[in-house]
Amino acid sequence: MENKTNPYDIAVIGGGAAGSMAAIRAGQLGKRAVLIERNESLGKKLMMTGKGRCNITNTAPLDTFIKKFSPQGEFFRSAFFAFSNDDLMEFFRSGGLELKAERQGRVFPVTDRAGSVVSVLEESLKKNKVDVLCGKRITGIERKDGRFVLIWEDARHIEANKVIVSTGGASYKATGSTGDGFIMAERLGHKVKALKPALVPLTVKEHWVKELQGLALENIRVSFQYGKKKLISDVGEVMFTHFGVSGPLVLDMSGDIVSALEKHKEILMAIDLKPGLRKEQLESKLVHKFAVKGNIQIKNLMQDILPKRMIGIFLSLLNVSPERRTNQITRKERSAIIDTLKAFPLTIRGSLPIEEAMVTGGGVSMKDINPRTMESKIVPGLYFAGEIIEGAAPSGGYNLQQAFSTGYLAGENAAKG
Ligand SMILES: Cc1cc2nc3c(=O)[nH]c(=O)nc-3n(C[C@H](O)[C@H](O)[C@H](O)COP(=O)(O)OP(=O)(O)OC[C@H]3O[C@@H](n4cnc5c(N)ncnc54)[C@H](O)[C@@H]3O)c2cc1C
Repeated sequence: MENKTNPYDIAVIGGGAAGSMAAIRAGQLGKRAVLIERNESLGKKLMMTGKGRCNITNTAPLDTFIKKFSPQGEFFRSAFFAFSNDDLMEFFRSGGLELKAERQGRVFPVTDRAGSVVSVLEESLKKNKVDVLCGKRITGIERKDGRFVLIWEDARHIEANKVIVSTGGASYKATGSTGDGFIMAERLGHKVKALKPALVPLTVKEHWVKELQGLALENIRVSFQYGKKKLISDVGEVMFTHFGVSGPLVLDMSGDIVSALEKHKEILMAIDLKPGLRKEQLESKLVHKFAVKGNIQIKNLMQDILPKRMIGIFLSLLNVSPERRTNQITRKERSAIIDTLKAFPLTIRGSLPIEEAMVTGGGVSMKDINPRTMESKIVPGLYFAGEIIEGAAPSGGYNLQQAFSTGYLAGENAAKG
């Protein structure tokens, strides 16, 4: 194979979202491109995205994309501009795949199948005459006579004038994204910022959380703080697990919490179970309920207020016996009930490991990459695209758009000159 085609104009390492788009763009511009993927097929992680439905992008304006990658969002401005969410949607539509926008602007294929997204990419690779080599794991990149030599596991090699590294992050390793690209980047002199999990469930100190496993709370407010300092707060859905908390709201806030845990051993998570009511409103509601249903046990009265599974734990945190009659509850205890409804406490101690994070925080330092071209500032002719670059966004399609946009920009610039 290598004698027939070597050297390629452009070799792309990693056949996920970023690498596929980079190779397609290079092919569209008439370059002889090769896409090298270690798995037997392309897009193994793409197939898992959006619970198998693939939330490819979001309908939000460009500035929202930049904010979502805050504080590093500005780095991606040129990429999001060069290949926007509209451009990406047009790409899939012109490939015959209709799309639909769901809540919060999340865009999915109408088929609800990530496989249809991968099929459009495969078709486009074929149409643009990109050679696709699957089942080939690249283990090293070397420079020789102004070219790049890519070494395979079996010691054979392939040569190219330009190389795009799009090997993804280091999470969900079974998809092939084991972090090889970070090692290659480091060996070539790039700084790799410490890898950490983002979009990851959090673990808590309280053992009783196991009893709530599987319980989802919708439309609640979650605030994180250490000492008296508030970190972040937002409204959404939380799910209890046997080790702690997950669900969309927790996953989206987890990147900030993981960073805060680098400095603080424990972070307090307070759940406002009644975000629509101020304390005084809650108080008058409870006073009324207590007056009307004075003779029933508090555990039964609480069923109007809390999910049944939470009641035992809630009352035990306050040292209130569930069997007590409502009319025996003291004013102090009522006040504690209100405080706990407004700030149900959990102690965050950590997160699941990076392997179980949906996205990798950290990665090849943006300082070493030209944001207008995605070319390395250290090794001319070498480009980066996708999750290998530091920075991560919450869920909503922003991370895949980042991969497609940086892939496009890298492919376009590698094809120039
Ligand atoms: C469960 C889950 C659900 C997700 N859902 C969404 C979602 O709905 N929307 C969204 O925006 N984001 C989602 N994400 C995040 C999204 O999947 C990533 O941001 C995106 O896949 C990154 O694309 P990439 O091309 O940079 O990397 P990847 O998709 O990880 O692709 C990298 C490719 O490189 C290959 N590779 C690695 N090393 C080598 C090597 N040495 N030689 C050859 N090939 C190599 C890998 O096998 C892999 O195929 C989800 C992530 C997970 C884990």
